[in-house]
Amino acid sequence: MHGGSGVEEIIHEIESLLADPDLNRLGPDLAEPVWDSPLIGVSRGDDPLYAEFKETIGPFYWTPLEVFQLRFPGIDTAASDLAVIVWVLPQTEATRREHRTCTLFPSRRWSLARLYGEAVNDRIRDHLTRVLIEAGHPAVAPVRLPEFRREVSERFGIASRWSERHAAYASGLGTFGLCDGLITERGKAVRLGSVVADVDLPATPRPYHNRTEYCLRLAGGECDACIRRCPAGAISEAGHDKERCFAYIRKTAIPHVEGELGFPVPSCGLCQTGVPCESRRP
Ligand code: SF4
Ligand code: SF4
Repeated sequence: MHGGSGVEEIIHEIESLLADPDLNRLGPDLAEPVWDSPLIGVSRGDDPLYAEFKETIGPFYWTPLEVFQLRFPGIDTAASDLAVIVWVLPQTEATRREHRTCTLFPSRRWSLARLYGEAVNDRIRDHLTRVLIEAGHPAVAPVRLPEFRREVSERFGIASRWSERHAAYASGLGTFGLCDGLITERGKAVRLGSVVADVDLPATPRPYHNRTEYCLRLAGGECDACIRRCPAGAISEAGHDKERCFAYIRKTAIPHVEGELGFPVPSCGLCQTGVPCESRRP
């Protein structure tokens, strides 16, 4: 953020971190990359979608301005001054291939990516926040705030104060699938990250017209691949049953991973591989 074009610089910052084999790795003893090259999208803080999200998810849900003011109560900013920067970290082909063969429990690679890869994602969140602040653009990574937590939405059940999937949807990166995952140009076997900053970056165009356009089934097709992939029966024609999904992860997947790796990881994601939307927009 020192005089370049903004979005390109942000991509460069993330790619530089991911180019470091000591950082972008599946684990301390596994010298293979945990993430493929990223996608980036931007939305503006006053995008009407953010007010819509709050309206439908619940009053606890943060708009970009609310989360910014929570972090910087002394700075007088308008929603229109803010940009929401979102990135997509695709799982590697090796991880997807191994995970595809699993039917009941998550693969070892997937669980390692959930643990060590998410730590890399936190490093990206913290690094981008710092770089933006140093360049004179106050910035905050919502999910890194101590106030970030899970909530219960009257309409949707388990929810949280900030959704990186919703921010990614608003930022032109993809649309929701039947399983609730975000289908991006690199598929839905991905993790997401986001930062809200007082910076003048242009919004990425949204090349879709509704929130489920990329899902074969929700667009009117026949696909039931994620329904069949879920070992918990948590996906049906009606969509994703979050309670059932969380119960499976808590009671079945975590103990399995702990037995395999020696530490608990909230890992599953079977519905993210072995499906037409695994690594591309179907
Ligand atoms: S597997 Fe099929 S039904 Fe499920 S999210 Fe992907 S496209 Fe939609
Ligand atoms: S994460 Fe696992 S339990 Fe949850 S919906 Fe996907 S396959 Fe089912």
